Amino acid sequence: MLRRPTRPELPSDVRRRASAEGSHAVLVEAVLDALPSPTLLLDAAGTVLLANSAWATAAEVVDDDRIRVGIGGDYYAMARRIRDDVASQEIISSLQDLSRGERSMVSLDFSVAHPHGGRWYHLQASRVDRAGQVVVTHTDITDRVRAERTSAWQARHDHLTELPNRAHLHELIDAALQLPGRGAVTVLFLDVDGFKDVNDSLGHDVGDDLLRQLAARLGGRTRSDDTVGRLGGDEFVVLCRGCDKDGAEALAERFQSSFEEPFLLGGRPIRLSASIGVATASGNRPDNPRSTDLVRDADLAMYAAKAAGRNRIRVFTPDLRMAAQRRALFAAELREAIDADQLVLHYQPVLYLPTGEATGVEALVRWQHPERGLVPPAEFIPLAEQHELIAPLTRWVLRTALRQAAVWERQGLDLVMGVNVSAVHLSTGTLVGDVAEALAEAQLAPERLLVELTESTVAQEPELAAAQFARLRVLGVEVSIDDFGSGFSSLGQLVNIPAGLLKIDRSLVAGAASRRSQASAAIAAVVGLGRACGMRSLAEGVETADELRLVEDLGCTFAQGYHIARPMPADEVPGWLAMWEPHGARRALALQPVG
Ligand code: C2E
Ligand code: CA
Ligand code: CA
Repeated sequence: MLRRPTRPELPSDVRRRASAEGSHAVLVEAVLDALPSPTLLLDAAGTVLLANSAWATAAEVVDDDRIRVGIGGDYYAMARRIRDDVASQEIISSLQDLSRGERSMVSLDFSVAHPHGGRWYHLQASRVDRAGQVVVTHTDITDRVRAERTSAWQARHDHLTELPNRAHLHELIDAALQLPGRGAVTVLFLDVDGFKDVNDSLGHDVGDDLLRQLAARLGGRTRSDDTVGRLGGDEFVVLCRGCDKDGAEALAERFQSSFEEPFLLGGRPIRLSASIGVATASGNRPDNPRSTDLVRDADLAMYAAKAAGRNRIRVFTPDLRMAAQRRALFAAELREAIDADQLVLHYQPVLYLPTGEATGVEALVRWQHPERGLVPPAEFIPLAEQHELIAPLTRWVLRTALRQAAVWERQGLDLVMGVNVSAVHLSTGTLVGDVAEALAEAQLAPERLLVELTESTVAQEPELAAAQFARLRVLGVEVSIDDFGSGFSSLGQLVNIPAGLLKIDRSLVAGAASRRSQASAAIAAVVGLGRACGMRSLAEGVETADELRLVEDLGCTFAQGYHIARPMPADEVPGWLAMWEPHGARRALALQPVG
């Protein structure tokens, strides 16, 4: 039902018009009332002539006195009350223009501020007759606007921490850099040390919790002009406007101090640290850098901070960019080196202590670089891991080492071949397939292969390691835990790992003979632990006859080290073996002078 006018003169006005204009006005009334949107008929002065039922209902729902205007009320006064800004002016002036016939229709959106959250309306109006009456409809578009705003917000924010995400951070940094007459702009790049360990050992939910706690701590340490955002993973970026290098370093220290308090994770207090890189675009630079440049520089500085040992702050300098370019170049060279057969394997013999015979070798990779000479693995394995080259590299090592083992087997040399596998390769999931393929290609019995994975790998990915170890052992391949005693693997994990051999790290063996009691206790404990888990032990880095005797006394089954032999090219191995047995073994074990 249409609301009838309450003031005595107006209803008669309307009725008069209705009778004068006959069925036309009746039709207008009926149409208005049928409209689902709140709709009003206004005269040229903005007075409400008719209001449909939807209008009355909307006013009740919104429950706002400012927009409660009925028949005979002043629509323009109401428009002024909802907002006293441009929107009101625009509504009024465009409706007046419409009424005067200066425009054919009005279509605009406006919002009404409200304590229960603002509402948005789409206003559409058209002229009814030459007297300047207009029909105005108001469609509530609040839900649509909210959905649009939410999705626009979500596209620019990280769902976990609600901080600006990578794309939005770059927008904000670029905006700060392009501000006319801007001061210095600094970007801090922060990365949590050992975040992966938290995630792996305590689970992803705890990892997420850490990131949320950290976001809150960082937010609490910024000035109002700074913006904290999350790039992804455990990488956070702070944009500091009007902040020069010194100010930025002070800020970086403040962020670092936010790690002094332990984090409460999974009910346990856990101490963490962060590495921070700082890059500044000074205020008077003629060539404005882009956000991507500044963030990359801060990232390089963070990388250098991490490389220098954790929990550090490093300010970007141009030489870092050169070093990064050199690394990228070196990685490109390494990619080619794998195909161009520039890699070589050296083999280090392994002794079986009960008989003194050499029963195996460990394959150790080197890079025969055209300019640098023989490059040791420590200088390029980490690079290979970072540049996704480790799987192709390991496949090359497996193929070459197993082919070599097959050649030796045909010469009557029965040696178990040890091959090192990196943690990164373990997570690619191709390891078992790669091993099976190389064995098939070399036509070598699986018992001839020993796969070595470091203790830290096993500790980082205990479930993955256990699963893949089990599959390798089903194939018939033996598995060892390398560098044992150098990391922090828990005994609990060790019990669940299906490995057959424990390689005791060089650091435990080194100098064991001179610090006899302590070191021997440690080695004896490791040997005993291995035995309890069904594993045999190998002492690495045996450099003296004394150490060799000691590790044998302590129950190690195998030994490896410079005292027995250094790693050597393949063609030297048969000669060394011939020389070693039977005299070498006795010489190494018993006849060398002690000390
Ligand atoms: P690792 O697996 O622990 O290998 C033993 C390292 O100790 C070798 O160094 C070996 O030359 C050295 N070594 C052996 N005996 C002694 C000794 O008595 N005293 C001392 N001071 N050192 C000794 P290398 O060849 O430089 O290899 C270093 C590391 O590089 C290896 O440690 C291994 O982690 C990695 N690596 C080598 N080859 C490969 C490979 O093909 N793939 C992967 N993923 N890593 C490899
Ligand atoms: Ca090894
Ligand atoms: Ca080792």
